[in-house]
Amino acid sequence: MDLPVRADGKQGRDGTAATDSADNSELVAKERIFRQCECCGAPIEITLIESGDRRRGVLWSDGYLENDDAPTPSILGKCRVCGAMGCLVELPLMEDAAHRELTDDYTAVPLTVDEYAALLENLEEIGEQFHCYLRISFWQLSNHRRRHDGADEPLSEFENANLQGLRELLDEDDPAERLIKVEVLRQLQQFERAEALLAEPVHPEIVPLVERLWQLLEARDANLVKLFTGEPGDEMPAFLSR
Ligand SMILES: [Zn+2]
Repeated sequence: MDLPVRADGKQGRDGTAATDSADNSELVAKERIFRQCECCGAPIEITLIESGDRRRGVLWSDGYLENDDAPTPSILGKCRVCGAMGCLVELPLMEDAAHRELTDDYTAVPLTVDEYAALLENLEEIGEQFHCYLRISFWQLSNHRRRHDGADEPLSEFENANLQGLRELLDEDDPAERLIKVEVLRQLQQFERAEALLAEPVHPEIVPLVERLWQLLEARDANLVKLFTGEPGDEMPAFLSR
């Protein structure tokens, strides 16, 4: 394995990785993981969860975390060489990757919003274990235009159907899924159902999040919002970043 380098890719002044104690928090042992495309055999580099502080990002109410330092890895992606789509965590590991000079970019290509929509139109051909992930991914990706161009754009018919499908998949007995369901119901303007779910007891650490959702529900606001900006004093609860 290579010497550790700093998370930002910079090296110390003497050309080796910086090792002074002040920079220790930035030291990351960069072990690269490659899987293999089942279609053409090319390497596909897997993005791991980095050590960046996930609390320093913008947390949107659909659960999307905007944080360049700690991107959320995707489960589905495409081979950069042949374009074949695959479940990245299920592809076989490339055993000899350490002995090859893999200098080109082999990171998986993320799926577009249209590709997620196409998968949702053929759900019967896709294993049920992926349905929730597909619906949440499509929801978050199609919300990207609202993050930048105006949160009050109404849901399209397809987005509405996707949220209704997602609503049925979420488990109210699971605390995290229950919160997502509250938000799905809020965006579907089913405010009373959302309030009934939000009234269930929650972990004390997420009370700040629950209070913000209450305010939105009481205002009968169905728009996508930023729940936490990540600025000092407005970081999302640590409970959510784990
Ligand atoms: Zn391929």
